[in-house]
Amino acid sequence: MANTTATILDGNKIAAQIKAEMAEQVQELAAAGLRPGLAVILVGEDPASAIYVRGKVKACEQLGIHSVELKPPASVTTEELVRTVETLNARDEIDGILVQLPLPSHVDSQKVLLTVAPEKDVDGFHPLNVGYLSTQRPGLVPCTPAGVIEILRRSKIPMEGRNAVVIGRSDIVGKPVAMLLLHNNATVTICHSKTRNLPEVARQADILVAAIGRPGFVTPDWVKPGATVIDVGINRVTDRNLFDKLFAGDAAREKSFTEKGSTLVGDVHPEAADVAGAITPVPGGVGPLTIAMLMANTIKACRMRRGRR
Ligand code: NDP
Repeated sequence: MANTTATILDGNKIAAQIKAEMAEQVQELAAAGLRPGLAVILVGEDPASAIYVRGKVKACEQLGIHSVELKPPASVTTEELVRTVETLNARDEIDGILVQLPLPSHVDSQKVLLTVAPEKDVDGFHPLNVGYLSTQRPGLVPCTPAGVIEILRRSKIPMEGRNAVVIGRSDIVGKPVAMLLLHNNATVTICHSKTRNLPEVARQADILVAAIGRPGFVTPDWVKPGATVIDVGINRVTDRNLFDKLFAGDAAREKSFTEKGSTLVGDVHPEAADVAGAITPVPGGVGPLTIAMLMANTIKACRMRRGRR
């Protein structure tokens, strides 16, 4: 079991700070007769997606953001979804449109996502927003990467001049995180499945970001002593052998695993906390920030659409 020496970077606490700031902004906008609005499209009955969407709608309610949930059946066609998004694009009370992924395999996800008006693209996936991000122009930044930077910034972890290593190069997490770290003057290395000597590269990191999708992949020997480790991964472990490899001797996890038959683990092995200087837990690290930054993006979209920066 991990004999944790690292500072635990509490994502729930940081997300609560951000939400409190956002609630103030919602009140300010209300005084000017404006109410930010978010539309979430949830296709089909995927239970994990339904949980994520519930969390997003609940956060809107807490903050006073107007929310609309659309639930087309799993049989929906690409054309029907495109028309749904176009209708939302045209509705003035909707500032943000979020298409919950993954979409069913028969749907052309790219076509649907490209239909979202860039000024309402609160996920920051539209190529126009990707371009704005890479050229440091004002736009909508993907929520999880923005959340990673908020954790570092609010925990006063310096980025400037530090070596940052990002493992993962997806459009949703790895690439935008790397871009944001670069804009914060870190020296950034992006790793992926073809990277050679990955543990050696990871050990150079003052800030190590793991966005891979493999439970406990980053082991303690990959971590430079004292480094900050940001674990973006969310993996559900149901296999007993894997659970034992990750959490042997952790009584609290053992109890919850026995009761629920599963537990959530990041891409970083829990024992990395023995080596790191600071680390995000899973759950309760980056996850809560993703929702907080979605709220922030919805408010930002509302302001930007109405010329209020
Ligand atoms: P993707 O599957 O899109 O990307 C995974 C990346 O990891 C790829 O770039 C891949 O490399 C790399 N990778 C895979 N295997 C290896 C390996 N053996 N060695 C080195 N690199 C490897 O995943 P996402 O970016 O969408 O998500 C990553 C993780 O973050 C997942 O666990 C996901 O659940 C979680 N996540 C969490 C969120 C949150 O709110 N906290 C939000 C979004 C995601 P290559 O490109 O070469 O294939």
